[in-house]
Amino acid sequence: MMRQYELVDRVRRYNPHVNEELLNKAYVYAMRAHGTQKRASGDPYFTHPLEVAAILTDLRLDDATIVAAVLHDTIEDTSATREDIERLFGSEIANLVDGLTKIAKLDLVSKRAEQAENFRKLLLAVVDDVRVLLVKLADRLHNMRTLQFVSPEKSGRIAQETLDIYAPLAGRMGMQGLREELEDLSFRTLMPEAHAMIVTRLGDLRRRSGENINRIVTELSQELSARGIDAEVTRREKAPYSIWRKMERKSIAFEQLSDIYGFRIVVKTIDECYRAIGVVHTKWPTVPGRFKDYISTPKQNDYRSIHTTVIGPGRQRVELQVRTGDMDEVADFGIAAHALYKDGKAGDLDALTRESRSYKWLRHTIELLSEGDSPEEFLEHTRLEMFHDQVFCFTPKGRLIALPRGATPIDFAYAVHTDVGNTAVGAKVNGRIAPLLSELQNGDEVEVVVAAGQVPPPAWESLVVTGKARAAIRRASRDAIRTQYAELGRQIVTRAFVRAGKTYEDDKIRAVLSRLARTSVEDVLAAVGRGEMFSGDVVKAVHPEFVPVRSAGAVAEKGEKGWFGLKKAASLVFKIPSAKEDASDAIPIRGLGSDLPVRFAPIGGAVPGDRIVGILTPGEGITIYPIQSPALMTFDDHPERWLDVRWDIDEHDTRQYPARIQVSAINEPGTLGLIATVIGESGSNIDHVEFITRSSDVRDVVLDIEVRDLKHLSSIISQLKSKSVVSKVERING
Ligand code: MN
Repeated sequence: MMRQYELVDRVRRYNPHVNEELLNKAYVYAMRAHGTQKRASGDPYFTHPLEVAAILTDLRLDDATIVAAVLHDTIEDTSATREDIERLFGSEIANLVDGLTKIAKLDLVSKRAEQAENFRKLLLAVVDDVRVLLVKLADRLHNMRTLQFVSPEKSGRIAQETLDIYAPLAGRMGMQGLREELEDLSFRTLMPEAHAMIVTRLGDLRRRSGENINRIVTELSQELSARGIDAEVTRREKAPYSIWRKMERKSIAFEQLSDIYGFRIVVKTIDECYRAIGVVHTKWPTVPGRFKDYISTPKQNDYRSIHTTVIGPGRQRVELQVRTGDMDEVADFGIAAHALYKDGKAGDLDALTRESRSYKWLRHTIELLSEGDSPEEFLEHTRLEMFHDQVFCFTPKGRLIALPRGATPIDFAYAVHTDVGNTAVGAKVNGRIAPLLSELQNGDEVEVVVAAGQVPPPAWESLVVTGKARAAIRRASRDAIRTQYAELGRQIVTRAFVRAGKTYEDDKIRAVLSRLARTSVEDVLAAVGRGEMFSGDVVKAVHPEFVPVRSAGAVAEKGEKGWFGLKKAASLVFKIPSAKEDASDAIPIRGLGSDLPVRFAPIGGAVPGDRIVGILTPGEGITIYPIQSPALMTFDDHPERWLDVRWDIDEHDTRQYPARIQVSAINEPGTLGLIATVIGESGSNIDHVEFITRSSDVRDVVLDIEVRDLKHLSSIISQLKSKSVVSKVERING
């Protein structure tokens, strides 16, 4: 086991100002905390955090990270608490260890590959200090290195998780060397035979072509040097897992791989890049179609280099990259930086590009550190904010749902399944009832409460943040409205059949769909409900001998006394010849927001207690008019648009309905205030006020108000009339 002084020495090698006391304190604390705990190998558990710390000293990390590594399993696996750590080591280290504990609690195992990407994002979203990820990766690396002591079942699971989540994460952070080691260890565990095969063949290839490879490096160096180009030539062997993946992807044999070895020429200037390429192309024949100039046309990620393939010494294909030292640095760091935002597409980077990328990003970070005034501050502010516009939540079964920040349980419900969203009535977040419109946080476990037969309120559409939820809500409302129109149409058509002395049946409509140019019974009914098709025409389609009512007069003759003098209309509406003449035969109206697409007369409205008629307007549904409305005259010639309707209002209903009154009052200060007070005190709202005339003595005021019903309206009118300044009050209907 590594001794205290050894750990301190390792740090001191790159950091002369190491806080020896702090490191020793952590060493002793973690050793005591883990006590007699053992690893699967039988070693004392404490050897594990020490090895993790050692890996991080290879990356030359700061004291806080090394101490966090030593302590990383204490909160998770011992009786130590966050408070203990904070008290003894301060809040910075406590935050790091706490971050690691949080990650340990995430169940990162997922059988679905698509989830792996989300889990990586989750990690990045949960972690707000890059050092936590570095410790986590070192932790995983040590666990992978000692995987042989773990049961085969468990080791397979850990290896898969490493391959799915941690290796790509290392790659994303620009740590390609760490990525390759993690991949290789996973590959060896998951597919020992394939791994052994590739390692063996690589060994063979190395033995066979080792001399050749050295010869290529030497010949390239000499040739360039002879032309006065100061170049550094390096070579690289593709990693076993990359080889296997390429064989799989392209379904080719090991022998068919031509890019197991790659070479890189690094020179001083751009001019030398092109000269070096000239030298290489003069000396060896090129492979057609393999020349790519990413210097004149850099890749999107700012990668710059010239690629070429030649038939080199020993008739071997040689893949070459030529770039300047600056490009080498910029490419390495730039791509690492890009990799932080999007996982570097393996296809974009060949083996050579990845060469020595391993710790470049980290090295660069440390370079910045050594230059900066406050290294700790720099690391603290290297926060991973790229996924902070997202939240990651879980279903009770552990499925991860990624949502944009600001998402609500409704968004979550729709992300799970459209049906879940449509029938959502409540949510439990982390086991507690939460409003459907609360904002979800990272790591929330969300359980959606559903109830069958629900329709999402259209208002949700503007409250959700995901497009999927919005579209589904819109669709559901549209379906619901269509259903309402169809229901209205059914009532209208049924009555039309009754009027014609027939009985309505869906099958009758179904038989004449083509005649009506519709595809379903619901279509026909919805069309009638929307006023696009007249009920009489539907009856006629079924019973061609039937003559639809086209003239109001014909029916009006049967009429009795009209209402408010509108004899024709009234008789038509209220004296429909039918088997039952009671009120239940009329279409019940519940007001705005009811199940039927209903609106009220645009001028003067209609209030419960009014005798009402419905006028069907194509595409808009029914408009409710009080029977005294002069506007009804305009519909006299369209009896087919008249509907028998009645109020269906619960007496406890507190909804208000629009009405218009005109008040004539003496023109003196305070009159208008008095009118407003009377209306307000009677529990009515004033929507709109307009002055019709204004003489020196009298003013006429038109008020649009909201009342519960006719009784409420009458009471307001009589109260206004009782005021001495008021000369006249009239209800107005358009
Ligand atoms: Mn650990």
